[in-house]
Amino acid sequence: MAMGVIGLASCGTAVESQNEAEQPWIVDRFDDIKVIRYEVPGFESLSLEEKELIYYLAEAAKCGRDILFDQNFKYNLAVRRTLETIYTASDVREGDEFVAFEKYLKKVWFANGIHHHYSNDKFTPEFSEVWFRKQLVKYINEENRQIEDDFLCQIIFDANLYASRLNQKEGVDVITESANNYYEGVNQEEVEAFYNAMVAADANNPEPISYGLNSKLMKDENGKIYEKVWKIGGMYTEALEQIVYWLEKAAAVANPTQREVLEALIKYYNSGDLKDFDDYSVLWVKDTKSNVDVVNGFIENYGDPLGRKSSWESVVNFRDEEACRRTEIMAANAQWFEDNAPINPAYRKKEVKGVSAKVITVAMLGGDCFPATAIGINLPNADWIRKEHGSKSVTIDNITYAYDKAAQGNGFAEEFILREEDRIRAEKFGKLGDDLHTDLHECLGHGSGQLAPGTKGDELRTYSSTLEEARADLFALYYLGDEKLVEIGLIPSLDVAWSQYSDYIMNGYMTQLSRIELGKDVEESHMRNRKLIAEWCYEKGRAENVIELVRQNGKTYVVVNDFVKLRELFGELLCEVQRIKSEGDYEACKALVENYAVKINPLLHAEVIARNKALNIEPYGGFVNPEYELVTDKDGKVVDVKISYPANYVEQHLKYGKEYSFLPTLN
Ligand code: ZN
Repeated sequence: MAMGVIGLASCGTAVESQNEAEQPWIVDRFDDIKVIRYEVPGFESLSLEEKELIYYLAEAAKCGRDILFDQNFKYNLAVRRTLETIYTASDVREGDEFVAFEKYLKKVWFANGIHHHYSNDKFTPEFSEVWFRKQLVKYINEENRQIEDDFLCQIIFDANLYASRLNQKEGVDVITESANNYYEGVNQEEVEAFYNAMVAADANNPEPISYGLNSKLMKDENGKIYEKVWKIGGMYTEALEQIVYWLEKAAAVANPTQREVLEALIKYYNSGDLKDFDDYSVLWVKDTKSNVDVVNGFIENYGDPLGRKSSWESVVNFRDEEACRRTEIMAANAQWFEDNAPINPAYRKKEVKGVSAKVITVAMLGGDCFPATAIGINLPNADWIRKEHGSKSVTIDNITYAYDKAAQGNGFAEEFILREEDRIRAEKFGKLGDDLHTDLHECLGHGSGQLAPGTKGDELRTYSSTLEEARADLFALYYLGDEKLVEIGLIPSLDVAWSQYSDYIMNGYMTQLSRIELGKDVEESHMRNRKLIAEWCYEKGRAENVIELVRQNGKTYVVVNDFVKLRELFGELLCEVQRIKSEGDYEACKALVENYAVKINPLLHAEVIARNKALNIEPYGGFVNPEYELVTDKDGKVVDVKISYPANYVEQHLKYGKEYSFLPTLN
């Protein structure tokens, strides 16, 4: 499970004096996107073995990029390759049409495809089809043509074709109406029947397999439904072979524990057997000692409307020792938090196992974590492994630091925070509040609670991600305002919590809406979860004016009047959300999400977009990766690994497209 970006724009309040010589943090801006660079502090002081290990894991991370493009949409690689060919060859590099074309290509790189990475809607090109067809004639020939020209134009220009990557609207067939490449020729009913049968046959297995996680579901020529498995020798083999090549190199320089973990991962990539994946995940979660760590595989299922298929991603990282103190304190008190959770005691974990939490420094982002990335991760996702073996939870510090730097002095706080006392609190405690929220969400929130006997965990269907994120957020919010945190030395005072409360409610109720196109509903599960919590608390606390909507000078402000009462509301909602998960109460879950999380007040929506636009703040951020280079002596022995920080978004993607593209156009 991954933690999205929460209220980060509001961190940018303390304006430091900018060092003239300092490189800018934002390296590119286009449309609703800003691209930020991140630094990797501490890399230089790692041991040679660790540096070398990071180098090989980083290579593996880059090799899976094409997989994600293909998973997102069957023709993404065809589109990307054609655009790159034209872009590179074009002799005219100015004019409205070319500029619009370049912007479109930048967006395709950022989203790993032609659908927006967050809203899932297909991009609308701002260049004309007439101009584009001229480029096709000029630069695309028999040798570099990926798919037929007319079809390519339809894909790019026909707004109704493949309109959404992930359509979860109530009442539609979420499989046939979604353009992702996880299913082909099958409908929702067939998919549900296929997997329900598999799950039912495995019902007595105490270690249930995550069916469907690593395959595309389709029909053969006789109409029989089957899984095309992503493995060496199967679908995506060309990229997976490269990944395994680098993983083998990594295993050779890893410590014995880590070698065993990497070998288990290699075994799974070879077999495609999900039992092997679970074996690997158990080994991975148990390795809490190694300094360098990696996520590499088919991990998160947010891109599948039914939550079975996982997108490929990789995060290479190492421990940030100093910041780890925070999460170690949390982990040491994990049982206390569980025992005191404001939920039905039957749904508390009797024994919290293996909570391992750490703060990490990212060294390389790949697949579904690049260019846009989460700021926290909690894995593995399989419920039984979490229960039996625990989970590993990380907060990514150098990424939040870069976001924070990029947001400094952007005027957001002055525009949206009404009261001066709230602004001062945000300046002082905003970053710590955000960090602790992420830590609590990942380290304790997702790992907390248990299912009632007889509940399988897949009952909530399309609503499960939203509910799960709400559960982890509520756990974090509730405990952030607990005196216990002061007592164990995590926060200097509850002001840290109150700053987070103000920010969270303002973001969930209002400011996050700037990321959504006018007229659209909220679709993404983290956004839905934040809206759900903010609106539910607003409604339930209305009689006592806990949260107030203030209108002033034609502008709307969201203000929290009573932090203590708000915390009680967080606890109440957590109790209900945990009950829904534990009992698998689909109807209650649906009602909660549909009532509070989906529909947007159009007036407020338009206002937020206009105010944000006036500030020139792009609502989404992503990153350029650093580069690593092996330094060898005259005998070819590795003596060092050099890190550098390229600051050109276009060059990085052209390079990745050239050097790390292994899949055929159609898979
Ligand atoms: Zn989460």
